Amino acid sequence: MKKISISTRSRTELIDVTHQVAQAVKEMGISDGICYVFVPHTTAGIIINENADPSVGKDILMELNKLIPLDDGYSHLEGNAAAHIKASIVGSSVTVLVEGGRLCLGTWQGIFFCEFDGPRSRQVWVKVTPDGPSGGHIG
Ligand code: ZN
Repeated sequence: MKKISISTRSRTELIDVTHQVAQAVKEMGISDGICYVFVPHTTAGIIINENADPSVGKDILMELNKLIPLDDGYSHLEGNAAAHIKASIVGSSVTVLVEGGRLCLGTWQGIFFCEFDGPRSRQVWVKVTPDGPSGGHIG
């Protein structure tokens, strides 16, 4: 498993980590398999969406912030209940197929780390499970 370290700069922020994940996959030297990208945090998440136009990420963040306000009479007294809820909604992992040592992402797709309670030091864990000896084919 490879661990990618990220330093976030704002309370809420989307950070394109596609390149770092692709690099980690390359370093693992597994040409074909399944790549798991996991965020070990309760107030951050990970998504796959458009990274060609940066305004898409901005809009996703804006609407999440509207949907889940910072203060809303929450029970959790740590002051970051909104971040826990946003992290639950977006999820803590994504899966991408790997072929020829490369991530199989759509033309417009990128992998975004989602900070909801920054700024903090964060991690993204990457693991590739190689295809079996038959390359996944039966017979
Ligand atoms: Zn908390």
